[in-house]
Amino acid sequence: MTERTQGFPKHGQSADELLAELEAGRAKDADWRRARTFSLVYNPADPGLEHLQEQVARAYLHENYLNPFAFPSLLRMERDVVAMAADLFHGEPRAGRLSSGGTESIFLTVQVARDHARLTRGIEVPAIVVPETAHPAFAKACHYLDVTEIRVPVRRDGRADVAAMASVIDNRTALVVGSAPCYPYGVVDPIPELAALATERSVLCHVDACLGGWLLPFLERLGEPIPPWDFRVDGVTSISADIHKYGWCFKGASLLLHREEDLLGQQFFVFDRWPGGVYGSATTAGTRPAAPIAAAWATIRYLGEEGYLRLADQVRTASKAIRTGIGAIDGIHVTGDPVPGVFEIASDTLDMSAVGDVMDDRGWHLDRQQGGLHAILSPSHTAIVDELLGDLADAVATHGESRGVQARYGGV
Ligand SMILES: *Cc1c(COP(=O)(O)O)cnc(C)c1O
Repeated sequence: MTERTQGFPKHGQSADELLAELEAGRAKDADWRRARTFSLVYNPADPGLEHLQEQVARAYLHENYLNPFAFPSLLRMERDVVAMAADLFHGEPRAGRLSSGGTESIFLTVQVARDHARLTRGIEVPAIVVPETAHPAFAKACHYLDVTEIRVPVRRDGRADVAAMASVIDNRTALVVGSAPCYPYGVVDPIPELAALATERSVLCHVDACLGGWLLPFLERLGEPIPPWDFRVDGVTSISADIHKYGWCFKGASLLLHREEDLLGQQFFVFDRWPGGVYGSATTAGTRPAAPIAAAWATIRYLGEEGYLRLADQVRTASKAIRTGIGAIDGIHVTGDPVPGVFEIASDTLDMSAVGDVMDDRGWHLDRQQGGLHAILSPSHTAIVDELLGDLADAVATHGESRGVQARYGGV
C-alpha cells in the first residue's frame, strides 16, 4: 500500500491490481506462519482446519447477525457453541452468548455487574475489584461504563492476593475478578478463594478465561495440575473465554457464559422509543459479522475433544521444552509457575529489553512487559524450539554489547 495519503479515487481499479498491491503492502507485516510471533495469532498448524474456516467464512461473508431471527442457521450455531462451551465449563447450556472478542465479553461482564448492583442494591456508581494482572479491558470497560476499578497488587507468585482484595471490598463493590490464567504471567488466580470471598460479601465473581478457557480443560484431561477455575467452583457467576485464541477460530469470536439465565437477561438491551420498530441486542454491536459465529461452530465440531487434546498436547510439549531450555540459560528464568502455553521470561540481573532487541534482530517478536519478555505458544512453535533457545542463549550472552549499541544510537 502506498505510504502517502490519498484523495478519494476517481476511477475504480481492477481486482488483480488491488490484490497485487495488497500483497506487496504486507511485506513488513509480522510473518506469523514462520512461528516467529508469540501473540496476536494462535496457529494450530492444521491446514485442514484452515481450509474449512476459509470455506465457512466465504459461506457467511455477507449475512448479518443483527437479527438472529432472520438467520435461524446462525442462531442455532450460536446456541450450539454456547451449549458445547457450557458442557466444557460445567455451566448452564442456555446462559450465554457469543461476542466479538474478549474485550466485548468483559464489557458485558462489567455492564451486567453494574446493573445488577444498581438493581438489587441501589448502588449508583458501583466498583469492581481486580488483581493488577487483570486484562486492561476491565479498566477500559470501567472507563466507558462509569464504574470504579480497584486494582490490587498480586502476591510474589503473581497470583491474586485474596486477603488484600478482601480488604478493599466495601458496600459499593459489584464484582470480584480472577483470571485463568492472567495474560502477563500465565498463572491461574486462586479462584475458589476469590469466589468464596465474593459469595460471603454477596457480590458477583467473574473468571476471565479469555486466554485459558479453551486450553485449560484439555490440559486438565491430559493430566496437568490445573487449579480449579470453572463453574465447578461455587460462587463463580460468569466466565469469559475467547474462541479466537486457544479455541483455534479466526478473529471475532468470544463467549460470555453466566451461571444463571437471569444474569444473562441483564445483558440484553431493548429499545422502542424511535419510529424504527423494536430494536434489541444481546451484545454491544449492532450489525454483526456472521462468519466468526459459523466458524466457531465449525471449528469446535471439526476438532472435537480429540482435536483439542492433540493441540493442547502440542502446546504443552513446546512449552515444556522451552521452559526447560530457559532454565538452562544462566541469568534468565520464567516468572512464577505458569500453566503450559503462556509465560514471562525475566531476569534479576539482565536488561531484558536489550535481550529482546537482539531477539528482534534475529527475527523474533517477543512482546515486552515491565518485567521481561512475554510468550504465548501455539502448536506451530513445536518446530522452532531449538532455534529459539539458541538465539535466546546468544542474546543473553551478548546483551551487554547490545546495550552499548543502543546507547550509541540513542536508544530508540
Ligand atoms: C486477550 C485477552 C483479553 C481480551 O481479549 P481480546 O479478544 O483481545 O479483546 C482479556 N483477558 C485476557 C486474559 C486475555 O488474554
